Amino acid sequence: MNAARAIGAAMLASLASAAAAADSGPIDPAFDYHSYANVDQFKTTHVDLDLRVIFKFKQIAGSVTLELKRLDPRSTQLVLDTKDLMILDVTQKATDVLGATAKNQTLWVSRPFHLEKADPILGSALVIELPPSKKATESIKIDYETTDKSSALQWLSESQTARHKPFLYTESEPISARSWIPLQDTPQIRAPYKAKIHIDDNERLRAVMSAENDPKEQHAKDYSFTMPEAVPSYLIALAVGDLEFQETGPRTGVYAEKSMIKEAAKEFADTETMIQANEKMFGPYRWGRYDILVMPPSFPEGGMENPRLSFITPTVIVGDKSLVSVIAHELAHSWSGNLVGNATWRDFWLNEGFTEYMTSRIMTAVYGEQRTAMEEVLGLKTLRDELAKFKAPDQVLAIDLRDRDPGEGLTNLPYQKGRLFLKYLDAKFGREHFDAFLRGYFDHFAFKSVNSDQFLAYLQDNLLDRYPGTVTRAQANEWVLKPGLPADAVLPMTTAFQVVDDARNSWASGKEPLKKMGGDWLAQQWIYFLDGMPAALSAAQLADLDKALSLSKNPNAEIGHSWFMLVIANNYQPAYPRLEEYLKTIGRRKLIEPLYRELMKTGSGAEVAKRVFKKARPGYHPETTKSIEAIVEMKDESNES
Ligand SMILES: [Zn+2]
Repeated sequence: MNAARAIGAAMLASLASAAAAADSGPIDPAFDYHSYANVDQFKTTHVDLDLRVIFKFKQIAGSVTLELKRLDPRSTQLVLDTKDLMILDVTQKATDVLGATAKNQTLWVSRPFHLEKADPILGSALVIELPPSKKATESIKIDYETTDKSSALQWLSESQTARHKPFLYTESEPISARSWIPLQDTPQIRAPYKAKIHIDDNERLRAVMSAENDPKEQHAKDYSFTMPEAVPSYLIALAVGDLEFQETGPRTGVYAEKSMIKEAAKEFADTETMIQANEKMFGPYRWGRYDILVMPPSFPEGGMENPRLSFITPTVIVGDKSLVSVIAHELAHSWSGNLVGNATWRDFWLNEGFTEYMTSRIMTAVYGEQRTAMEEVLGLKTLRDELAKFKAPDQVLAIDLRDRDPGEGLTNLPYQKGRLFLKYLDAKFGREHFDAFLRGYFDHFAFKSVNSDQFLAYLQDNLLDRYPGTVTRAQANEWVLKPGLPADAVLPMTTAFQVVDDARNSWASGKEPLKKMGGDWLAQQWIYFLDGMPAALSAAQLADLDKALSLSKNPNAEIGHSWFMLVIANNYQPAYPRLEEYLKTIGRRKLIEPLYRELMKTGSGAEVAKRVFKKARPGYHPETTKSIEAIVEMKDESNES
């Protein structure tokens, strides 16, 4: 995921509970505290979905058939994760218990089940009673419907998309898969899946999934998908919309609404080059095709690494490839995360820290060292901001998320501190040894999950002990298990921001006009230019900035974000109409949450925030709505951040 965002009110509120969790005894690194599934007794080996997408009722209805292996023959209770689902029926294939005969091959027998009391974070455990069985695998079918609370689903009406056709997408990471499929919703369990998707609607829409998609398929009502590789539940993904396809390479392409398809294909034209760069360093791409789905602007994240089909925010389509590191990031997840994935949400840094490190390597190979160094320095700044705010337990890579929403772990820290840890190992052991280690790691754990303790043990055996006297286990432990940044961290540096600092100073002090500077700057330099502005600017200075740089109309949404932060801080009214439009059209949390938070700092800003949110919220994803709601209604806390 490319989701890291600034610390929010909800996170601040939970810092107290983090301290509480620290008192609840030592953590079991192999246990997933965010799932009810009894994975030591049953293990899913295949998932088969048969679903109707009903736009009229904003509902998905149908069944999932789980093929399970009973690890303990005495177990007679299967426990699955659900959240805000209507469970209609649970049946078991008769042959699983009666013995296989041709006659009852298709017979399904009802099984008693009940839902446990719902927990606000984890949802309700679905408990299914099963007779004893000695079969190698058995099939359990659950008929169910989603509800209007299902948090993985965003339903967009005709008016909220470019083509005036409805759109549906799922976003399941970390624990929302259970809100649209009852299953073992833990990354410890990986299984291949199949799906039949029926679109219950007159519109000619296309369904795509994180599976084998056929770009040549015509728009129809029924689609079938196969994902032959074993994936964790959070990587099962579906989108339905008026989508076109354009090829960008032999195994790459773009799905988007028609109005965007050309620009998107142009922006992401380097994808095949990126795949090749990654293969050269870290081994083969093991997923067949790599396609990109351009999401509606409401998509809450930068990108989501759904295998074979990354979901990407349209805010990175600028026209100059300046924000395509998001693609490098989602692509790198094809190795770190999708191939070798975190076993629990405590280990999220194994997905994101590795991915950020690999993103740097891809970006350097394709776009050069200077741009990469700039992006890393900007990333380091976000890390330093968080380290200054987070209490010690939340500065740890292997973070304690017991009794907390695992979404609270999705800060910049696992991304940026994780990247620095790998950069440190790279610098200490040398590129050749470190790359060989990474290739070995991806081979060893391919299509499996790994937790932080397993990683440290593997690191010790395959790198630390192999080249003794370079890095000790205690030093590695400090990175993963201790707060803050180790004193000998290898920090990114660039000289490219010096010229920006000089230019900003001479403009702010009135020595040099804007039009003389920045002719050949990259977008990262402009972002740095704006982010480093003095806190107080005059209306004349802001007018000068906007006029010379057309900031209010900038096609680069990240530059726009930095500009609007200045606009709000200085209450610069002429830019407010564009600011409102920005907040109403974009739903990417990283871009809009800080703007809402900044608005809430003053009385008149708070009024604007509340008014705009009221209008914008039907277009936001449920998770975005939840976090903005917390910001505009919890004014006192948002003031702290
Ligand atoms: Zn990511």
